[in-house]
Amino acid sequence: MTQRYSSKAPPTPTALDVPARAMTIGAHPDDAEFGAGGTLARWADAGCDVVMLVVTDGSKGTWDHTVDAADLILTRREEQHRAAAVIGASETVMLDHRDGELEYTLALREELCLWIRRLRPNVVLTHDPWRRYMLHPDHRVTGWAALDGVVAARDHLFYPGQLAEGLAEHRPAALLLWAADEPDHWEDISATFDRKVEALLCHSSQGATTMGNAATRAASPTTANNMPTRWAG
Ligand SMILES: [Zn+2]
Repeated sequence: MTQRYSSKAPPTPTALDVPARAMTIGAHPDDAEFGAGGTLARWADAGCDVVMLVVTDGSKGTWDHTVDAADLILTRREEQHRAAAVIGASETVMLDHRDGELEYTLALREELCLWIRRLRPNVVLTHDPWRRYMLHPDHRVTGWAALDGVVAARDHLFYPGQLAEGLAEHRPAALLLWAADEPDHWEDISATFDRKVEALLCHSSQGATTMGNAATRAASPTTANNMPTRWAG
């Protein structure tokens, strides 16, 4: 759903109906905010129940040699909860897989299927695993596992043990891929663009790495404001 930087003007945004529940599946704290924070905030304002699922613990997300990985996990968890509050999300789920070492396994697919069946979202939003040159392995793995989790969640013969425990199969009405390789859907986030930036700024531990502000190692409004113009969703 997100536009790659291009000289071509994007078409007029085409809004989906506001879903009753939206579920993001992001590899790291801050991925869903980058990918779809404006849309999520707008939906939350309109009564959508937004649930943010984060697959890894974010423990590799620093260039500061003095930061301990265990402390970083706690910091990023707290940042994620603050960002979710800015978005207006009702729940954040942290799966706490080790950052940077996520592998595609049947166990990961089953875990994501379980959460889709538990949360029963109308719309799932995640990374586009087909995106060319997507460098981060966790983004690729999360995208594939999320897509395959959606397929598994809808059919009762996948992971019948989950059904035996009281869950039912579930088919989301829509699946949106942020930072898409070939975008074909746009949402107008002009009303919530500032909220997207505000949510990103909650991730202040990422000032040096993701947001490119190596000088101060703090998320700066200038940098965060510039990035979402290329990553608006
Ligand atoms: Zn990420």
